[in-house]
Amino acid sequence: MTTLSDGEAVRIGGADVPPGARVDIRLSVSESYTGDRLSIPITVINGEHPGPRMFVTAAVHGDELNGIGVVRELMTTLEPNEINGVLILVPVVNVLGLPLHSRYLPDRRDLNRAFPGSTEGSMASRLANTITTQVLDVCDVGVDLHTAASGRANLPQIRANFDIPKSLEYARAFAPPILVDAPHRVGSLRWAGAERDVPVLTYEAGEALRFEESAIGIGVAGVRRLMAHLGMLTEDEADSDGTPLEADETHWVRADRGGIMNLEVGLGDSVSVGQPLWTVSSPFGRDRKPMESPWEGVVIGASTIPLCNPGDAVVHIAVPGGEGEFDEDVDVESFL
Ligand SMILES: [Zn+2]
Repeated sequence: MTTLSDGEAVRIGGADVPPGARVDIRLSVSESYTGDRLSIPITVINGEHPGPRMFVTAAVHGDELNGIGVVRELMTTLEPNEINGVLILVPVVNVLGLPLHSRYLPDRRDLNRAFPGSTEGSMASRLANTITTQVLDVCDVGVDLHTAASGRANLPQIRANFDIPKSLEYARAFAPPILVDAPHRVGSLRWAGAERDVPVLTYEAGEALRFEESAIGIGVAGVRRLMAHLGMLTEDEADSDGTPLEADETHWVRADRGGIMNLEVGLGDSVSVGQPLWTVSSPFGRDRKPMESPWEGVVIGASTIPLCNPGDAVVHIAVPGGEGEFDEDVDVESFL
């Protein structure tokens, strides 16, 4: 871990942030169609005392807003005199998707497949490059905040590669309702971090285009718990009441027939093999057919649209792998 010595300023995006200061910076990226400067807003909080450097990024997918709520809460509640080290907060990475309420960039590129990016590439590549060089490369650890894609909802969860000991350690310190062992996707911010030996946790919670209290609250509490674990908070942080589940496998259950769908389970529900997950009926409503769970586990994701075609992924189930009891429903509030 790189630590600053006492009294050293952090230099990011051409700005110096002295110890004990909070500075809002616009990282210059490129130019828009109208020739305006395109920039990513960040807040750098340099603690009064040295310590690790952590980043928290939100809205890499431009319609995933819960993370913006998490970053905004951290920005307005953490003071430089409460922090050891440096916290870099990025409320909106995909500054072109956000105004369009879109996951993607205007050319349909997925920013979370464009890392580490380059200075010569498409807009996605340039945005990714700015975050890689100005934020990721100067940090020891990061948390990247997401929600489910449009039309789905996720139980608050951390996705990390359990094969990397620090990733698993940090995921446990974050202590969300469930940790999922997930391989890296090439081009994601998490993958770019792993390539640089910077553990990046992906936090997934809630739905697109919404602010949800529990998804935001658990995100804020998790970042604070991770900061405390790393010695970045001057005061102790209370542990959560809940014990996170650990899953090394997850499975989507897909519809076997099309129709109008009634979900019989919700996020966090414990399910057993053979338990009805949803029923499908025709528009006339008289021929309801249940879909039974092929897995024992906990529901960590589900469709929010009560319609399905054959093959649609409807319910996402985490199956037992490590810690925790999968035969009880998850009490989300106990992770705040
Ligand atoms: Zn996302």
